[in-house]
Amino acid sequence: MRYRRDKKSGNALSVLGFGCMRFPRALGVIDMKKTSAMVREAVDRGVNYFDTAWIYPGSEEALGTALAEHKLREKVYIASKLPVIVCKKPEDFDRYLSQSLARLKTDRIDYYLMHMLTDINSFEKIRGWGIVDWVRQKKESGAVRQAGFSFHGTRDDFLAILAAYDWDFCQIQYNYSNENYQAGRAGLKAAAEKGIPVIIMEPLLGGKLIGGLPKAAREAFQKADPDRSPADWGLNWLWDQAEVTVVLSGMSGMEQLLENINLAEKALENSLSPADLAVFDEVKMIFNSVHKVNCTACAYCMPCPQQVNIPGCFAAYNTSFAFSLVAGLQQYVTSTGAASSASHMAGRCVKCRKCEKHCPQNIKISAVLDDVKRRLEPFWVRAPLFLFRSIVGRTTRPKPEKTLR
Ligand code: SF4
Ligand code: SF4
Repeated sequence: MRYRRDKKSGNALSVLGFGCMRFPRALGVIDMKKTSAMVREAVDRGVNYFDTAWIYPGSEEALGTALAEHKLREKVYIASKLPVIVCKKPEDFDRYLSQSLARLKTDRIDYYLMHMLTDINSFEKIRGWGIVDWVRQKKESGAVRQAGFSFHGTRDDFLAILAAYDWDFCQIQYNYSNENYQAGRAGLKAAAEKGIPVIIMEPLLGGKLIGGLPKAAREAFQKADPDRSPADWGLNWLWDQAEVTVVLSGMSGMEQLLENINLAEKALENSLSPADLAVFDEVKMIFNSVHKVNCTACAYCMPCPQQVNIPGCFAAYNTSFAFSLVAGLQQYVTSTGAASSASHMAGRCVKCRKCEKHCPQNIKISAVLDDVKRRLEPFWVRAPLFLFRSIVGRTTRPKPEKTLR
């Protein structure tokens, strides 16, 4: 494993961080056996930065359990996050931190973030509630070691938040297709100039820069170097930049973990040639021309009160442009359970817009679901599905029990 120095604390952090939002699941529940084996393997191979959050369902408990089981707590740095968006009063800071510590089975969080600051007002709100004094007290008590923030908003707001406090680190969304999106390259450079480590999230855009790459984009990478995978290209675009400290990958399987570790063991700054960088320009152009919705499948918008599978709808919608309409329809039918009576299709949306305030990508979810519905729920798809549901419903519906009068 290769390490980069957190100049503020002096810690040596592994260039690959384990993003714990996408631990393997079975039937919606974290698969502890697989998770525990992955955590163990990651630490054995030198990964020492684990990123979780109060708001990721089951993630803090799973990480705490795996680290305790293998007695690995002292070998790693844990990052977790204060759920700013659900804080209603200053007392909530203590409440959420205590819950995180208990779930993680630890007495300290090494890197504690204000989760998902979106603009300077989101920071000013908690500053008004005394977050600065609170952080100082937690640092003095040892419960928090480094204080930072994760960010989704405009570059100007990122720069304003960066300047508003003496942060120990920050976390931004950054990858080759989002070079100038949100904080972007300008934000990365500004943070590095302040001497604080920058942690990168969504380095492969929730896997879209691997599985969601159109054929022409894959071919462009392959033509440039047949031995390098899309993950190799995407991660090395980040590690090439000296300002990047840790690249988080939300790994959900052992194979993925091993591939990323193998890449991280060779990660170097300034390793890409001008010819390599030109390939990214070509791939980026192809990718951006077919990916209509910038959804990273983070699921912050879920659950929807109407049971719409929002990330599933957007993934299928993107597939219908990136690959083919048929491929998109197939994905849509399976991921939304369109053939069942309890479907999670876009057409169920009632535009309450409750989901939209949680979306870090600022997607106008209800409006885009209209587009999804228009493309993936045309009459010639709805009619056979309706027929299928009525037949299956008739044959499988339980007969009503006779009631005693
Ligand atoms: S706007 Fe639509 S998708 Fe969003 S929460 Fe409301 S019903 Fe669900
Ligand atoms: S719509 Fe937004 S909040 Fe929902 S999964 Fe996609 S990126 Fe995440």
